Amino acid sequence: MMPSLYVVTIDGPAGAGKSTIARLLARRIGANYLDTGALYRALAFYLDASGIAPANGKNVAEALGGLVVSLQGGRVFVDSSDVTDKIRTPHIDAIVSRYAELPLLRASLLELQRSQAAEGPLVADGRDMGTVVFPKADLKIFLSATAEERARRRWKELAERGERTSFEEVLSQVIRRDGIDSSRALAPLRQAEDAVVLDTTALSIEEVLSRLSSLVEERLKERLNRGGRDV
Ligand code: C5P
Repeated sequence: MMPSLYVVTIDGPAGAGKSTIARLLARRIGANYLDTGALYRALAFYLDASGIAPANGKNVAEALGGLVVSLQGGRVFVDSSDVTDKIRTPHIDAIVSRYAELPLLRASLLELQRSQAAEGPLVADGRDMGTVVFPKADLKIFLSATAEERARRRWKELAERGERTSFEEVLSQVIRRDGIDSSRALAPLRQAEDAVVLDTTALSIEEVLSRLSSLVEERLKERLNRGGRDV
């Protein structure tokens, strides 16, 4: 395994290609991959299925007090139930951001996210990786793309999984979700000041991956020249 940066963060709006790219980059550089969206989706799924609306602060707080979210072998669990295959539906897309803006819910996931960096080199994707969860990450990437392109990718992914929904619906959902994620008070979606921004609208997955791999190599060389990690 080649030497690796310790933490690489990838933030950006829905459908910018974060999870595909983060997973492939992690494999390429020999790092673990952390999909933080899956954690928010898992809690949203669980609370929604339990009939607890995001507006019901008291019940959300009570439920969170007794729940354990965990990651095991790339799968996400709430208590002992594996919810991995239930969290990428249009329904969860539509409700997750209203749960993700709750400070208590965000706080309940912070430790789990940070603890993943203790397991070895990590590529983490989400909305607040570079700004809040890993502010001292070795390399921060912000992926963007036009809303139309992001909706097109998301629509294709849903269609491949047999979910029937129109492009217009996906587009309005993507715009709505980004609006909520960017405007919430705590840990909103925004690029870290020291993030490298990459617009992926006209780029293939391979092109994005090769640019990010070069950035990782450059950053690694800088670190080695300076005598190792300084975080
Ligand atoms: O990345 P993904 O689309 O799976 O994320 C689902 C939702 O989870 C986002 O729209 C956002 O509301 C929330 N999220 C977040 N912070 C993160 C990752 C995801 O608020 N770090």
